[in-house]
Amino acid sequence: MITIDKDTKMVVLTGAGVSAESGLKTFRDSDGLWENHPVTEVATPQAYQRDPAMVWRFYKERWKQARQAQPNPAHKALARLEDWLGDNFKLITQNVDGLHSRAGNKNVIEMHGSLENGLCNSCGKRSPMDSIDLEPEIPPCPNCGSGLRPDIVWFGEMPYRMQEIDRLLQSCDVFMVVGTSGVVFPAAGFVMTAAYLGAKTLAVNLEAGEMPHFVDEFHQGKAGELLPTLVDAWIQQ
Ligand code: NAD
Ligand code: ZN
Repeated sequence: MITIDKDTKMVVLTGAGVSAESGLKTFRDSDGLWENHPVTEVATPQAYQRDPAMVWRFYKERWKQARQAQPNPAHKALARLEDWLGDNFKLITQNVDGLHSRAGNKNVIEMHGSLENGLCNSCGKRSPMDSIDLEPEIPPCPNCGSGLRPDIVWFGEMPYRMQEIDRLLQSCDVFMVVGTSGVVFPAAGFVMTAAYLGAKTLAVNLEAGEMPHFVDEFHQGKAGELLPTLVDAWIQQ
């Protein structure tokens, strides 16, 4: 068993699996489709260039769906872990649903962006979806009136805050990965990088086949069932 105490520098990477028990579908559990759409049709810059109205329809729907979803016991366990470890804890998520922040996590790196904002193609300003007129097919920027895009990092684009993530991989003692399939790069490489830079690694995932063999500790099952037990055991040690 990997020991975790209050001085452990811990980094957690989460993927779509952590939100599955909140009712938000993962890619994998639907054959590479995201709510029945092939990802290339909705989650690439080319798709947005081809048909921005269709891409916006898709993300407006995802945003509404994410708002109706509630954080599940896995999100809540990670919030407890941050309360306990304080600044020694950092959370990197590939999810765009905002559920980690709503569960109470403060140090969240949303490397693939967020459904909660639009991003201006022209002035570069981010605007909360609540402040945007969502009626038009391509919502206008409240700052300059140009067309907005969803503030989502699409396939082929550079994830946000990579330098910061790189430093975290170098400096952490323990790296834990939860509910991610290891097919979307660069996130899929983080666990290997952290391991060869000296971190202990652990993974929580529904399927064993998707976990790299070098992971030090693997817990197979649902994140919402396993994480609360793991976190409570660390805190009570
Ligand atoms: P993925 O869909 O490729 O893989 C999900 C993984 O989670 C699988 O390995 C699956 O076995 C596992 N899993 C499923 N249910 C689980 C559970 N209850 N507990 C633990 N593990 C479980 O997801 P990914 O690796 O995150 O890559 C998908 C990309 O799609 C990401 O970039 C993400 O931004 C985006 N996406 C986001 C959301 C969201 O924000 N909720 C939803 C779908 C896709
Ligand atoms: Zn603008």
